[in-house]
Amino acid sequence: MRVAILGLGIIGEVWARNLLADGIAVAPWNRSAKPIPGFVADAREAAREADVVIVVVADPPAVDGVLAQIEPVLRAGQVVVQSSTISPEWTKRFAARVAGRGAAYLDAPFTGSKLAAIARETVYYVGGEAAVLERVRPVLARLSKAIVHAGAIGDASSVKLAMNINIALVGAALAESLSFARAAGVSDDMFFAALKLNASRSGVSDLKEPKLRAGDFAPQFSLKHMDKDLRLALETVGESGLPALRRVKAVYDQGMEAGWGDQDFSCLVRLVGAQASGAPAAHG
Ligand code: NAP
Repeated sequence: MRVAILGLGIIGEVWARNLLADGIAVAPWNRSAKPIPGFVADAREAAREADVVIVVVADPPAVDGVLAQIEPVLRAGQVVVQSSTISPEWTKRFAARVAGRGAAYLDAPFTGSKLAAIARETVYYVGGEAAVLERVRPVLARLSKAIVHAGAIGDASSVKLAMNINIALVGAALAESLSFARAAGVSDDMFFAALKLNASRSGVSDLKEPKLRAGDFAPQFSLKHMDKDLRLALETVGESGLPALRRVKAVYDQGMEAGWGDQDFSCLVRLVGAQASGAPAAHG
């Protein structure tokens, strides 16, 4: 099976390298050139001969731009696996465009950041026809530890945004509780030892503990993408609803305003840490 991977950011590059390591025929494309074997400079050329076209770019405008480039070569027999995190509304629009070209579409967001991608432990949430999923399962299975068929087109995007609401709130709570403890003179060793024995211990706290301890905010999942996902969730529900998320989104926005969009979203601890100790947050 020939696979095009359109988008070689944190995740797309790892997926492409894992498939290449398996000997799969991969056409990797990115908006800006990347030093990866077989790099294709034109998205249309990358998609033209592919059986499976994986799209994993930043946000809805980016997906829109990629689809505009490849639409002329899409055809029956191909499957577009759209894995960027977008809203159910955008998903339905993009699926209709792809169907208009005769190709099949899967709504296929995923969970698991850079480390999970490297370890092939991504988890896919897939919306779309089961038969289409079966056609691409051999490819997705190489990159993941689980593939959850969430329902129809759009349902997987809803599940994904729901999961990120949860992670964003847990992440903010973790940053605030750690900052509170640090400001009171509690050591990180004590904080994390106590957390491990507490009901609020989570996958998020286990994953982010090393980064929080070291103050290492190299991105596994960037603040700008979490902020984007929270915006998409709020846009989905409209003017009312999600009151806690609305408040926490303001904290993520402060991180964005501080210029930290490309850092890991755990960097929010810098902001709430400064507030807990009464010092202004450093920028940059
Ligand atoms: P990333 O490292 O920021 O990479 C973003 C990619 O999108 C880059 O390849 C970038 O190209 C491309 N892009 C941005 N704007 C574009 C445009 N207008 N046209 C074409 N390409 C464009 O992102 P990532 O972390 O790999 O995440 C990709 C997607 O997966 C996002 O939707 C994110 O929310 C989702 N996701 C990420 C994680 C994670 O842990 N990282 C987990 C779950 C879901 P350039 O290199 O040219 O800028």
